[in-house]
Amino acid sequence: MSQEKIWLSSPHMGGTERNFVTEAFDTNWVAPLGPNVTGFEKDLESYQGENVHVAALSSGTAAIHLALIQAGVGPGDEVICQSFTFCGTTNPVQYLGATPIMVDSEVETWNMCPNALKEAVEDRISKGKKPKAILAVHLYGMPYKIDEIHAFAKAHNIPVIEDSAEALGSTYKGRKCGTFGEYGILSFNGNKIITTSGGGAMVCHSKEVKDKTIFLATQARDNAPHYQHSEVGYNYRLSNICAGIGRGQMQVLDKHIALRQDMNKFYQDLFQDIDGVTVQKEQSDDIVSNHWLSAIIVDPSKTGGISREDLRLALEADNIESRPLWKPMHLQPLCEDFPYYGNKVCETLFEKGLCLPSGSNLTDNDRSRIKNSILKVFRK
Ligand SMILES: *Cc1c(COP(=O)(O)O)cnc(C)c1O
Repeated sequence: MSQEKIWLSSPHMGGTERNFVTEAFDTNWVAPLGPNVTGFEKDLESYQGENVHVAALSSGTAAIHLALIQAGVGPGDEVICQSFTFCGTTNPVQYLGATPIMVDSEVETWNMCPNALKEAVEDRISKGKKPKAILAVHLYGMPYKIDEIHAFAKAHNIPVIEDSAEALGSTYKGRKCGTFGEYGILSFNGNKIITTSGGGAMVCHSKEVKDKTIFLATQARDNAPHYQHSEVGYNYRLSNICAGIGRGQMQVLDKHIALRQDMNKFYQDLFQDIDGVTVQKEQSDDIVSNHWLSAIIVDPSKTGGISREDLRLALEADNIESRPLWKPMHLQPLCEDFPYYGNKVCETLFEKGLCLPSGSNLTDNDRSRIKNSILKVFRK
């Protein structure tokens, strides 16, 4: 008997997306500009609040690339990066011929450790290289230590690029993630909390930065009747078709966040009585995670030897997808030669951590299959 696959996080349409896409066809706006692009940007600006400006782009990775360029990053420069992340965070640093300086996580939010950040920046400065930017990540939707990281960055006058690709809708002291950095990054890839099939956005605090982002994203065309260019540009604008999906998704965003938060509660309850397994959760009342993915830490010394890999394989046998936490970038062959600062907190997280199915479209039947599959492992 083969049961349908339960995915970690799959696209979840609200129903009106198709109307916006149909309208784009009916009005022949099948291009990387048009009413859906502008409308989607407006929706995001009002959702994020804080009078931000938003430029819709073809991906979150593209948004990070354009943020780094505007922070002045070029060949030979150094950029502080949270090591515990997806490669989309750090790849754009390498596109520019700059060096990512890898910084460890802390145990509360699993994100950039303020102490390791301090150590890294002071050491780089002492070597004659002040980092050009700090790339911090709200991993799995959990806000990083915003007060500490931003106060430190401000004291050293280093811009923060806030990778909020996984944290649309998460808040810190009531304010939306993605609005704290000089540049905030969003992603609408297929597995993110909302999707445009593929897409991303730059959140910024002035019309100048938004305009410059759109300029760079549309081949840096100067103002002239012919095509005139005085700097390198990119083809990074979001399609009006994709933006139509985004407009529909915005109508269900908060509902879908609540459903992901319910999935996290489901796992908190499920693992409450299982020794040696902890579910990631907010460690302070100041923070609200969108719980894009629910993640657990499995400590074999307390589970009677059961590891996260035992659990992953048991779920896989029942056609349920789960995935180890992000492998720290400083352990990736691509980045292992770059400097690293910290105490291997993220290495332990990678070794013991597992992401569980977290989609807003999971059913009661899915939840009972997940529960049975997990309990089978721990009740042996
Ligand atoms: C998804 C993701 C990105 C990149 O976004 P894309 O839209 O896939 O290019 C960057 N950083 C993190 C943390 C992500 O999860």
